[in-house]
Amino acid sequence: MPGQQAQQTIHVGGEWRTAASGATRDILDPADAKPFAQVAEGGVLDTDAAVEAARSAFDHGAWPQTPVAERAALLRRVADLLVRDRERLGLLESRDAGKTLEEGRVDIDCVADAFRYFADLVVGVGGGRVVDAGSDDIHSVVVHEPVGVCAMITPWNYPLLQASWKVAPALAAGNTFVIKPSEITPLTTVALVGLLVEAGLPAGVANIVTGPGHSVGARLAEHPDVDLVSFTGGLASGTKVARAAAVTVKKVALELGGKNPNVVFADACATDEGFDTAVDQALNAAFIHSGQVCSAGSRLIVEESVRERFVAELARRARRIRLGRGTEDGVECGPLVSAEQREKTESYVASALAEGAVLRAGGARPEPSAERPATGYFYEPTVLDHCHREMRVVREEVFGPVLTVETFRTEDEAVALANDTEYGLAGAVWTADAGRARRVAGRLRHGTVWINDFHPYLPQAEWGGFGKSGVGRELGPAGLAEYRETKHVYQNLAPKPVRWFAG
Ligand code: NAD
Repeated sequence: MPGQQAQQTIHVGGEWRTAASGATRDILDPADAKPFAQVAEGGVLDTDAAVEAARSAFDHGAWPQTPVAERAALLRRVADLLVRDRERLGLLESRDAGKTLEEGRVDIDCVADAFRYFADLVVGVGGGRVVDAGSDDIHSVVVHEPVGVCAMITPWNYPLLQASWKVAPALAAGNTFVIKPSEITPLTTVALVGLLVEAGLPAGVANIVTGPGHSVGARLAEHPDVDLVSFTGGLASGTKVARAAAVTVKKVALELGGKNPNVVFADACATDEGFDTAVDQALNAAFIHSGQVCSAGSRLIVEESVRERFVAELARRARRIRLGRGTEDGVECGPLVSAEQREKTESYVASALAEGAVLRAGGARPEPSAERPATGYFYEPTVLDHCHREMRVVREEVFGPVLTVETFRTEDEAVALANDTEYGLAGAVWTADAGRARRVAGRLRHGTVWINDFHPYLPQAEWGGFGKSGVGRELGPAGLAEYRETKHVYQNLAPKPVRWFAG
C-alpha cells in the first residue's frame, strides 16, 4: 500500500500499524532459510483493537446494509486486482510457502475465482423466502443476514487460497472480519487486505493481525465480541479453537487435516494408458507441494495383484522428481515450509521403518545443488511399502512428501481400509468398472470423493470433512451459508386476542 512501511502489516480500522509491542518477525524463504521480509509480530493488544474496529464497523458502519449488488461489484473488483497483481502475488506465495512459481500463480487464479464465484452466488441466491403460513392474514418470510464479526485463522500451505474461501463469502454476506494468517506465511494475506482497501472496502470492515497462534489466534477464538470463528489448520489447534469458542457460544467452522486414501483397483491398470495415468496421478496426489496439502493422497491402497508393478514404477518416478527452489525453471517440487516440518517428516519415516515399512524411494535429505541450497528445508519424495494401519505413519497426518502403500484383495477390504481413519477429508477410487466406481464412492466416508482423478475442487462444490477433518463446509452455497444468520419474520396482518388466559 502507498505509504505502508515494511513492518506495518497490522491493519486496524483502516490504518496500517506496527505491533503495539514493537515486536517484529523475520519471514524466511524455505529454499535457503534466509529472511526476505519482516512483519509485525502482533499480540493480544493488537487483536483487541482489531476486533473493536470490526465490531464498530459492523454495528455502526454501512457495509452490512450495503446492497448485495454493490457488495458483489466490490468482490469482482478485487478479483480484477488479483489478476492484475498475479505475478507479484504468485511470486510472493512461492517464496513464502516454498511452492513452485507456477503453483503460486495457479493459487492466485483460484483466489480470483473464489471472489468471482461468491459475487455471483450472493446475487443469485436472492434475499429471502416467503413461507406459506396457511392464512392470508399472515405474511411469513425467511431472510438472511450477516453473522457479524468473523475471526479467520488460516494455515501456511495455501495461505491466500484458504483465506479467500473465508474472506470472499464473509464479505459477500455483509460481515466484517479480523484475519490472522499463519505466522510463517502471512505476506499474501497482508497484500490481499491492501487490495480490499484499494477496491474501496470501508475502513474497519477488513482487519488483519499478523502474529502467533497462541496469542493472536487464541484471543480471537475466545473474544466475546467475535460472533464466528472460521479456522483452517491442524487437528490439535482446531480442537483448542473449538474449546475456546464454546465459552462464548460462537459459531465455529473448522477445516482440519486429512489422511486421504487413494484406492487403485487392478482393472484401472489393465491398459498401458490406464496404468500410466493411475501412477502419474498417484504421484501428483502424494507429492504436489511436497505433500503439504490437506487433501494429499498420502495413503496408496492398491489391489494386491498389481502392487509390485505399480509401486516399482511409482518409486522410479518419485526418484526423478526435480527438487529445488520454487522459482527455478524446471523445478517440480519445492522445500518443506520449515525446519520443524522437515524434522516431523523425518521422525515419521524413521518410526515407519522401525515398525517394518520397506523404503522404495526417498527417505533422506537430497544432496545440495545450485537450485537446492544446503540450508533449504528439502526432503526427498518418499515411498514406504508394506505399511499397515498400526503404523503411526498410516494413521497420522505427516504433511510432507511421504506415501504409504497398503494392499487389498476385495472391494470390501478396499473400502474398509479407506475408511479406517479418524479423518474424512478426501479420497479417490481408480477403476474401469463404472458400477464399482459408484458403489465405492457411495461407501467412502470422506467429504470429497474423486473417481479416476485426484485433487480437483470446484468453487461451486462444497469442501470440508467428515469425522475429525472438520465442522461445516467452505465453498458452494454452504460456504456462503456459514456466514449468514437465518431469520424468520412472521407478520400478522390482522392481529386479534388469543384468549389463552381468561383474565
Ligand atoms: P496449525 O494448526 O499449526 O496452524 C493453523 C493456524 O492456527 C495458524 O494461523 C496458527 O498460528 C493458528 N493457531 C495455532 N495455535 C492456535 C491456537 N491455540 N488458537 C488459535 N489459533 C492457533 O496448522 P498449519 O501447520 O499452519 O497447517 C497445516 C494443517 O492445516 C494441516 O493439518 C492441514 O491438513 C490443515 N489444512 C486443512 C485444510 C482443509 O481445507 N481442511 C486446508 C489447508 C490446511
